Amino acid sequence: MVMDDKPREECGVIGIYAPDEDVARMAFFGLYALQHRGQEAAGIAVSDGRTMRLHKDMGMVAQIFTPQNLQALQGCYAIGHTRYSTTGSSHVRNAQPFMIETYDGPLAVAHNGNLVNAPVLRRELLQHGVGLSSSSDSEVITLMLAGAPAETWEGRIQYAMKHWRGAYSLVILTRDSVYAVRDPWGFRPLSVGQLPHGGYVAASESGALRTLGCEVIREVKPGEIVKLSNTALRVRQGHPPASPTALCTFEHIYFSRPDATWDGCNVHQVRQRLGAALAREAPVKADLVMPIPDSSTPAAIGYARVSGIPYTEGLVKNRYIGRTFIQPTDSLRRQGVALKFNALEENLRGQRVVVIDDSIVRGNTSGPLVKLLRDAGAREVHLRITCPPITHPCFMGVDMGTYEELIAHRLTQDEIRDHIDCDSLHFLSLESMMEAIGRQEGYCNACFTGRYPLEIDAVRAKTDFETALS
Ligand code: SF4
Repeated sequence: MVMDDKPREECGVIGIYAPDEDVARMAFFGLYALQHRGQEAAGIAVSDGRTMRLHKDMGMVAQIFTPQNLQALQGCYAIGHTRYSTTGSSHVRNAQPFMIETYDGPLAVAHNGNLVNAPVLRRELLQHGVGLSSSSDSEVITLMLAGAPAETWEGRIQYAMKHWRGAYSLVILTRDSVYAVRDPWGFRPLSVGQLPHGGYVAASESGALRTLGCEVIREVKPGEIVKLSNTALRVRQGHPPASPTALCTFEHIYFSRPDATWDGCNVHQVRQRLGAALAREAPVKADLVMPIPDSSTPAAIGYARVSGIPYTEGLVKNRYIGRTFIQPTDSLRRQGVALKFNALEENLRGQRVVVIDDSIVRGNTSGPLVKLLRDAGAREVHLRITCPPITHPCFMGVDMGTYEELIAHRLTQDEIRDHIDCDSLHFLSLESMMEAIGRQEGYCNACFTGRYPLEIDAVRAKTDFETALS
């Protein structure tokens, strides 16, 4: 992948019940709208009420699916997944959905999140003689559902929820049903919408629901099991919600598309408020405000509005370069961020610039970006970040790297400023960030504070499971 310094996207899931529709193609376009949440692999499983079929592979949605392989996926029940590997390495055996044959018919599962107790659950399955073919915690979820002691699928889901600890937004496909399930902490988003001609869709982001023409009805609430069916939605509280809940703050800061609604708030509006809060908290004399495109654009608009400093663009992003699997040549690699961004010299020459970015994770691209702006003629570069320093890793499904890789874990803010070589640097305070989001509690902020909402067994590497398989 081309040089980047963002938390790695999680995954995107979609579940569809749509009688008399081509659900495979609907799932394809739904996944297309969720592509930003994972570009390593994707898959769709479809059931026609008797037979379940699956197609999945490595790559992006448009590379994996063709009219021919979608045509083979016939039915009115579907689930889909687009993946970035958080637990389990990047390998086709870890691609989702997972599909297995059970005593009660076929079962397929797609999962967004990460179970913090997966190693324990995995060991228990192996001790009971259950074989595993992948290194993904999502396969553990699938096999636990298959073996859960209950009469119905809802009962099995409810039973398994008692044992799962961590982040899981799931879509589950059985022979004749689709379920949407969200963990009691509510880490990852999951919303439900109604199709205009009958049927329902569940998706990681409400924007994907609108892409399919749905009226967005509600979020799946923490701990809920929602069955998508022909009549009204069947909602069951599978597990009591955690108190307090622990919604991921990073959905607001970076992950979700700006058209998403997360916890009842429009993400674009929240990002504007984050920028406005930065302008109040860290004002500076400057000639222009510019974002690191694209995710920081709303925050730069907010900063410009409050500060009165004109908004402009200083960088043009090659939107597709970060998504390629073709490794750059050595000489292109030396180009670093220049492969991804071009500076607009005419806008920057002689200017004092406020640069808005959403986060600094490993700190490997901010310095080259500042240099790119200076080389283009910027006189001063003041960096403003719309969240606090990331000092702790995430164990709930977001890849931010290890403690040692996180620059804010190793260096003070002044040291980071010197490392990046900008004229000033400010991270938005936790208080101002939560004020901009409009909530005081119910959110996970562990990557900023180290206060994890649930007990983390051990500091585990991303490919923990691989050892068991290799
Ligand atoms: S640790 Fe950070 S990235 Fe992970 S769930 Fe919590 S807020 Fe989100």
